[in-house]
Amino acid sequence: MSHDLKIGEIREQYVTEEVIWQHLNNFYYRSAVSTSYKYVFFKSLLENLYNVDDDLSLSYDQIFYSFTTIYWNLVIHHDLEQSPNKNKPARAQTILKKYAKEQGIPSDWQFDQLADSLQLKITNEVKRDCKQNVIGAFYGDTAGIFYEFDIKRAHFRFNPAVYQFMKKYQRILINLTNYHLVKYLEKVNEATNTISLLSKIEIISKRSSLESFYKVLTQFEQNRCFYCNQDLSTSRRKTHVDHFIPWSFVQTDNLWNLVLACSDCNTKKSDKITTRTFLESMLERNESLISVVGETNDFYTYEEKKLVDLYDYSIMNGYTVLWEPRMVYE
Ligand SMILES: [Zn+2]
Repeated sequence: MSHDLKIGEIREQYVTEEVIWQHLNNFYYRSAVSTSYKYVFFKSLLENLYNVDDDLSLSYDQIFYSFTTIYWNLVIHHDLEQSPNKNKPARAQTILKKYAKEQGIPSDWQFDQLADSLQLKITNEVKRDCKQNVIGAFYGDTAGIFYEFDIKRAHFRFNPAVYQFMKKYQRILINLTNYHLVKYLEKVNEATNTISLLSKIEIISKRSSLESFYKVLTQFEQNRCFYCNQDLSTSRRKTHVDHFIPWSFVQTDNLWNLVLACSDCNTKKSDKITTRTFLESMLERNESLISVVGETNDFYTYEEKKLVDLYDYSIMNGYTVLWEPRMVYE
């Protein structure tokens, strides 16, 4: 049984897009689904596409931080069942409910609102209990072409051909996975309003607040709008933290993709990317930010090439309207 696999090698190194689509469709339409694990796992991989290191490896901590965040927000924040039998809940669901009860956490809290140490503790427990099942099961469903893994060594590495494919079709894959997750949740929760469920799932990984990033950015940078250069030091209310490449595409919050922006620019830019000039400024900004904050966790997997890639792939994925501010302050 694939869910008991402890090790998996990449079965075919050179796969065509047709073959990848075929296996993905198999996963979406034919795989046996006893919990929502596999959808949430694939969603976690999509969120971490730009967190890989040089040889396309992802750490289990990264994968399961996303996995636990999504699961928490589904189970606790939205109170949704994750398996068809209420008496046999998914293991991750049991773990999260135990913590929520023990710690008296209000049910409307999102995962990022918990103390960092508690997030870490919960993530570690979910990782320990779910890794073998989740990683092996998805591997089996996609015929071993997506990645290699070794549970004991906490190793996970994408097949390069599949990695390219996922970047190229990232937006479609996010939408497809959200759709199938919603269909599944609708069934096991006997929910009737798919549209409202879908709008919840689309932002399930979104943080409740970017305040911690505001603190870092204002500590190390001049308090000015990244786009129009307006001085923001007098108004906290007018200062927003903006995803340089829109959140709707990256689905994650990396410091290297976040800037301070005035409310006006942030609202007008909205879900667009900027003209290429600002990409150049962003690369410079990151270089100077690294020199002051150091290569901490925030920049652990950052490389210039990644941001350029992300910019180019966002255009390929349909973010074709390029925005820039009308006026720039001296
Ligand atoms: Zn501005």
